[in-house]
Amino acid sequence: MKKGLVQCIDDEILNKLSLKNRYKFLNFNLMSYLKPKHYDLLKEAQKFFRNFEKSHDINHTEDFYEWIPEIGKAGFITRVHKFDNLGLNFETYGMTAEFMRVMAMDFFDPQLAMGAGATVLAVNPLMLHHENEEIRLRALKELVNGEKIGCICITEPERGSDAVHMLTTCDEQSDGSFIVNGTKIYQTNGPKADWAVIYAVTEKDNGNTMSQLLVDTSWEGWSAERVNIPWTPRIYIGKETMTNLKVPKECVLGKPGEGRSHLFEGLNLERIGIVCLNAAEAWNAFTHAVIYSNMRKQFDLEVLKYQGVGFPLADIWSEIMSLTLATLNLCQLIDDKMEKLGTLPKEFNLALMATASQLKLLSTKLNQRACYECANIMGGAGVCDNTLMHDLLGISRIQEIGGGTRQVQEYILSMGLRQLFKAL
Ligand SMILES: Cc1cc2nc3c(=O)[nH]c(=O)nc-3n(C[C@H](O)[C@H](O)[C@H](O)COP(=O)(O)OP(=O)(O)OC[C@H]3O[C@@H](n4cnc5c(N)ncnc54)[C@H](O)[C@@H]3O)c2cc1C
Repeated sequence: MKKGLVQCIDDEILNKLSLKNRYKFLNFNLMSYLKPKHYDLLKEAQKFFRNFEKSHDINHTEDFYEWIPEIGKAGFITRVHKFDNLGLNFETYGMTAEFMRVMAMDFFDPQLAMGAGATVLAVNPLMLHHENEEIRLRALKELVNGEKIGCICITEPERGSDAVHMLTTCDEQSDGSFIVNGTKIYQTNGPKADWAVIYAVTEKDNGNTMSQLLVDTSWEGWSAERVNIPWTPRIYIGKETMTNLKVPKECVLGKPGEGRSHLFEGLNLERIGIVCLNAAEAWNAFTHAVIYSNMRKQFDLEVLKYQGVGFPLADIWSEIMSLTLATLNLCQLIDDKMEKLGTLPKEFNLALMATASQLKLLSTKLNQRACYECANIMGGAGVCDNTLMHDLLGISRIQEIGGGTRQVQEYILSMGLRQLFKAL
């Protein structure tokens, strides 16, 4: 557990809130619904993080970026793919496996889980578009095994929700390289990233000319400043300026015209990844509140026994379990298609656009409310710095913005309803 500046929660309750017990509570809830291989992976990852906590005397105030190499070496940065092309050959992989990995990592340290998630966003386009180029495979391997940190750069100071009409330009040179100029903002991991996947257009405001490029951030022309987001103080969010940044031909993941579809292909996975994070964060906060309210006594009774505490927890439990079962089902559907076909069929990807938005919308709302309610139910203990509740409160507020805001998900879905109607 965290060591707060001043201890507010007594030793007995703090001990009961241990990572070991919180994992146990999660496992009681999930064990009947998971396939043995996924349950085994969940327990394997939990064992790793419990040992990590013990051997590093963790206080959750550290720079978690320094932990990434060790976590990567153990194979817990991402499990979305098998990565046999990198010689890693993960036995259990896919979206469900990734959900399990995220769950174990989030219970250990929610801010770490969010930061590691942004590296995964850079891994996915490299996996899909490496074309066996040496530099792309090297970047991919370094990101997956935790040697390096990654970020993706879509959002710009003047183009947030309207990401397609971007202003960052890329001009093709006679040798096939591109010169990039522009500014990006709010990139998770931006100032810490070694590799960045960026999007730029040959003609400002014209999404049909978008390209997708891999950047080594040590190249001349790249500079990054840290944006302060007080709700997530340990995550580095960046504002990056690219000034005549030269991107060699080998690093063009998508030529002008291809970038836009690459961007949307990544957005579905990004949103489903956020759904997994939301479920993990909500379980984490809920687990804290359940343990605490079963032990904290007021008026000579454990507070869980008062309807004012127990009933809202029952409501939250039902909602988190429903979200988890929906997420597991979606992850399993994706895994089945990938196993059978090696890719996701076009029609399925189209349906996934709506489903990813629906689940992102619902899960962020639920997570934000669950984290706040659970902190509130714990009284002063829920809002002081003795547990991970404060980290969870901060992150759950941000999830509604990253990966497309709540309003933009609603906008996408309302347009989807229009299209469905037109097809009648
Ligand atoms: C913590 C954090 C991490 C992030 N990580 C990354 C990252 O790794 N990489 C990256 O590229 N970006 C990242 N982002 C950026 C994020 O995707 C954008 O902040 C988001 O898309 C919104 O853009 P904006 O902030 O410019 O808001 P704006 O687009 O300016 O929106 C302002 C308001 O207008 C609303 N709005 C806009 N358009 C519509 C519409 N059509 N209908 C209804 N309402 C609308 C929005 O919902 C919002 O309420 C991150 C953001 C945060 C906060």
